[in-house]
Amino acid sequence: MSAKVSTASALDQLARLFAGPETLVVISRVRDQAVVALSPGFASKFGLDIEAAIGRTAVDIGLWRNQHQRDAVLHLLHQQGSTTGEPVSIRGPDGYDYDGLMSAALIEHDGESYLFALIQDVRRYDSQLLARTREVDSFRTLIMESEVGVYRRRGADGALLAANPALARMLGYPGPEALLEACRGQTHFDYVDTALATGLDSSIAALGLLPQRRAELRRADGRHVWVTETARAVAGEHHEVLHLEGTLVDISVQVHAEQALVQSEMLYRNLVENSRDGVFLMQHGRIQFANEALGSILGYHASELIGASYFDWVAPEDLAAQASRRTARESGSTDTQEYEIHLIRRDGSKCLCAVRAGAVQFRGEPASIGTLRDVTEQRAQQRRLQAAEERYRLLFKHAVLGMFQSTLDSTIIEVNDAMAHMFGYASPEAMRSELVSIAPCYVHPEVRARALAEIARHGQVVGWDFEMYRRDGSRFHVLASARLVKHSEDDPGHLEGSLLDNSARHLAENELKFQAHYDSLTQLPNRRSFEQALAQALQDLRTQRSGQRAVMLLDLDRFKLINDSLGHLAGDELLSKLAARLRQELAGRALLARYGGDEFALLSLATLDQNGARTLAERVRQIIATPFQLQGHQVFSGASIGIVLVDDGQMQPEAIMRDVDTAMFKAKSRGGGYAMFDRDMHDAARERLALETDLRFALSRGEMQTVYQPVWTLADRRIVGVEALVRWQHPQRGLLSPAQFLTVAEDAGLLSAIDLLVLDQALTQWHRWQQDYPQQAPDHLSVNISDRLFTTPEFPTWLADRLRQTATPPGSLHLEITETVFRSASGNLHDTLARLKSLGVQLIVDDFGTGYSSLVSFSEAAFDGLKIDRGFIHDLEHNARHRAIVRTIAQFAQDLGLSLVAEGVETEAQARILYQAGCACAQGYLYAPALPAAAMSALLCPPSTGEVSRLAHQGAATQPKLTRS
Ligand code: C2E
Ligand code: CA
Ligand code: CA
Repeated sequence: MSAKVSTASALDQLARLFAGPETLVVISRVRDQAVVALSPGFASKFGLDIEAAIGRTAVDIGLWRNQHQRDAVLHLLHQQGSTTGEPVSIRGPDGYDYDGLMSAALIEHDGESYLFALIQDVRRYDSQLLARTREVDSFRTLIMESEVGVYRRRGADGALLAANPALARMLGYPGPEALLEACRGQTHFDYVDTALATGLDSSIAALGLLPQRRAELRRADGRHVWVTETARAVAGEHHEVLHLEGTLVDISVQVHAEQALVQSEMLYRNLVENSRDGVFLMQHGRIQFANEALGSILGYHASELIGASYFDWVAPEDLAAQASRRTARESGSTDTQEYEIHLIRRDGSKCLCAVRAGAVQFRGEPASIGTLRDVTEQRAQQRRLQAAEERYRLLFKHAVLGMFQSTLDSTIIEVNDAMAHMFGYASPEAMRSELVSIAPCYVHPEVRARALAEIARHGQVVGWDFEMYRRDGSRFHVLASARLVKHSEDDPGHLEGSLLDNSARHLAENELKFQAHYDSLTQLPNRRSFEQALAQALQDLRTQRSGQRAVMLLDLDRFKLINDSLGHLAGDELLSKLAARLRQELAGRALLARYGGDEFALLSLATLDQNGARTLAERVRQIIATPFQLQGHQVFSGASIGIVLVDDGQMQPEAIMRDVDTAMFKAKSRGGGYAMFDRDMHDAARERLALETDLRFALSRGEMQTVYQPVWTLADRRIVGVEALVRWQHPQRGLLSPAQFLTVAEDAGLLSAIDLLVLDQALTQWHRWQQDYPQQAPDHLSVNISDRLFTTPEFPTWLADRLRQTATPPGSLHLEITETVFRSASGNLHDTLARLKSLGVQLIVDDFGTGYSSLVSFSEAAFDGLKIDRGFIHDLEHNARHRAIVRTIAQFAQDLGLSLVAEGVETEAQARILYQAGCACAQGYLYAPALPAAAMSALLCPPSTGEVSRLAHQGAATQPKLTRS
């Protein structure tokens, strides 16, 4: 309380303002303690005359017990400006003491300081002693009952002398005694910030008091307590500090509340600033606040948004709705507004945002505060998901694959059209209502149990193949996959999967299995099955579960003839009819198989001795000999049968089949019937094997030699060509002819190598003759080429190289190939023919007439010449039919412009007939056998007289010339 009063009587008037009898006011000059004004109540209370009292001192009128007390109050006032509710005791002129509570202030008036004292609640006491006791009591009561902590320390050493219960509680002690005990020897309470203790001391020293301040103290229990504290020094006679009196008020609750507020504000700011959602405050259509997240959603900095009209960013289609939301808010709606809105970003793109806005009062007017989230991508994702779901639903409905959903106990939840149709129902609804559970459809219920177990373990089954029942009870194979779909931990889940009707594949597989083991024409087991059965028989023999067994190989006689004359269909019919007959006859006695084209193999089922085997073979022959009715023709067939008795389990199946083949050939060479594989054949077979072994080394050892047979003109007996023929100079067996080793070479795969070797040697030799005898050298060189080599893709290239290296004119080389080359169904054949043709070499058909090819097929092929087989020549003089054939061939060759050579001419008569038929050239013993190169050279170059006899001995004599008749 401070005032500035302008007139002299102003102080008096001020005092008189406090007119109530219970409110006592005294104003005294600070400088000399002179009383300058009294309230009427003060005067009457103490029986004073106001006029008389003015000018006296405050001590005189009993306001202060002594000067010291007045100084203490003044000091306090100088520090604080005012005091309130201080207990005070006043002695009236009547001798009685009065107690009251004094509030005081210093006031300035006309450059003078005055003490303004207002005393309330004044009570009179009858005796001084009583008054004193009352004073102390009231003081005590006040202190003891106060919630304000109060204490007194000794000025000299700071020792705590007194404390009230409130202080003890505040500092965590049960009572003042405990507090005093605990503070013994300490000059201050336990400040958390020790600087405050020093601050207290220096403030007291300088001011005599501690202005109110905040402090944090440590309690007995270690916890902290926030207080406001004040203190003042109580000075003695000589201004020494007698006591220090202080107050502490517990303000922990307030401090904590303040701290919480600060924290929550920080928290709030943090949240807003770091929120990924946009946060805004909008009022009157403008943005009052926006966080950075809101800015970045729209492509701005938050500062650019603040103050702007948010309608600028609202997409046209949402403007109306947003305007009505604004109206609602401004007309007092406090509803939380939740909506989605399209906003336009800085770059012009549109985004969809989800907004939630609550109502607040901002600067006294309604506003909206809330959050905004960009849900563009989220919504797009939802739409994509929905689209995918829709697609899946359609896929499910229209898939060709059967699809289903079922419970774990097989109740059908959903099936699609394909699945319903697969099971023979008209629609998914029909299947669901008629069937309910899929369980009865399993042909083998245990499959279902196994599948469920598998699903429990691995979550799915993939590609299981099993049988199910259709509605009509028929069975079919399915290929099934299923998986467990679970939405949560406690959801047992359901099954979802697909079914494919797999019956077609099973049929195909069975068919394949059949084809792998059976011959489709005769329905008999095939060669592979037979070999398996044979291997099993050998195994039985080894484990002595059965005795000696017979293996037979049947080759039909003249089958080729039937095939060629009546056609392939007739041939097929013969085979299947024969197979049916044999199967019926042999049922239970032997396993019958189709072994190859017209070969059948047979394995006796029971133990069979030599005689038993013969009897069986005889029976088979009889069955075959019975005529067949084929396409209106009665056909007689026969068979050559080879037999092997299998009595040793250690025999190899391949060896057995080779032996039975050998025996069959033996039978065939005898003109039919059967042959038992015996010692001799065994030896022959071994011989053959030995030969094969030797042959493998023969090539590299240079044992193969080429001999040459000259080809002559029939008209004037000139040598026009030579045919190269191979010989094997075997180290032990001597000179071997092709008939003795060519089949072995072919079987061993060495025939091509031999051909190339001969071709090579012959080209080299021919080249030498051209150089040595330019006049007499043969015009052409004939070389035999096997089917195998002819159809080897690399052959034409190889040949071209060799022709170039030996400088051979291609037209001089005649390649002799047989008709059989056309039956080796090689795709390269025509290609090879064309390539060789373009090389310019001549292609000659060897052994012409022995094959069964029609003449027509040659008219179209790219051949240059024919060689009539010697089978037609050797009996030409006696065989009219052969003569006719030769004439036909000669005419044919002439018509097509083909060269023609006859081979194997041994007599003059044959030569004449050929010449007369129109054949131009011939080779044969009549002229010369095949000769080694040296002898051939001698033949080319007329020998010296001494050599003539040796040449004559070799059969190359000069013969008389023929004349055409
Ligand atoms: P081919 O091509 O028909 O050869 C003619 C065969 O008749 C030759 O037998 C020849 O010595 C023989 N010969 C010649 N003039 C007469 C005769 O007046 N009377 C009789 N009875 N025979 C005569 P060779 O050399 O034993 O050859 C037999 C077959 O071996 C050849 O028959 C040919 O098909 C084949 N051959 C020979 N050398 C080769 C070769 O290097 N490569 C291939 N792939 N086959 C060859
Ligand atoms: Ca030949
Ligand atoms: Ca021939």
